[in-house]
Amino acid sequence: MSDPNERRSELAGNLARVEERIVCACAAAGRKREDVTLIVVTKTYPASDVRLLHELGVRHVAENKDQDAAPKAAACSDLSLSWHFVGQLQTNKARSVAEYADFVHSVDRSKLVSALSSAAVRTGRELGCLIQVALDAESGERGDRGGVAPDGIEELADAVAGAPGLRLDGLMTVAPLAGPYAGRQRAAFERLMEFSSRLRAAHPAANMVSAGMSSDLEDAVAAGATHVRVGTAVLGVRPRLG
Ligand SMILES: *Cc1c(COP(=O)(O)O)cnc(C)c1O
Repeated sequence: MSDPNERRSELAGNLARVEERIVCACAAAGRKREDVTLIVVTKTYPASDVRLLHELGVRHVAENKDQDAAPKAAACSDLSLSWHFVGQLQTNKARSVAEYADFVHSVDRSKLVSALSSAAVRTGRELGCLIQVALDAESGERGDRGGVAPDGIEELADAVAGAPGLRLDGLMTVAPLAGPYAGRQRAAFERLMEFSSRLRAAHPAANMVSAGMSSDLEDAVAAGATHVRVGTAVLGVRPRLG
């Protein structure tokens, strides 16, 4: 392991650069900086990094695998942090995720809604839910990286809104690698915003739009994202796939 002071200054420098990118993107889009929340994706990195990030002012962190996230969240339970779950989620992990997650961005099927709802009721915690949209999925299908096809958003949103223990917070997407939006992040995120407008017509409080990662956060901010999920640009290139 590297020297903690060195790691701290590395993270501080990276965070400052990401902050500058968000500030510029907001200015270019005529948006206020406070309308965009930075979520730092700490997957594959240790709890010690989460602690350093908290010292540096980060308040939102995300993970994509329950087996890594659960012990990390437990090791950091003394810190005031919001934990976002952003990975594909099996129903048998719902109970564990409901113990520490404040938000689940990857809600993409009704079985998962039921599992998260029972888990949330059991733990007595309210879970904020975002519907993950697969912009490259065909009608009625799920995408390769999770997510519901756009024509399934409404039904799933109604299911979340009616489920005990769950709160419908908005929509999430990952820019697709295939299909008509491959390589067109800005268009993909603008499409997500259209779905968000429709969703808000029926569920006005569901106004979170989670889009944009290290490589495309500017496109997401330009389109209107309220939350960007940034990993590599803050923590460095991940030591293994995650
Ligand atoms: C890993 C991950 C991110 C962050 O990606 P980077 O390219 O490292 O910024 C964002 N969203 C999801 C769903 C992820 O799995």
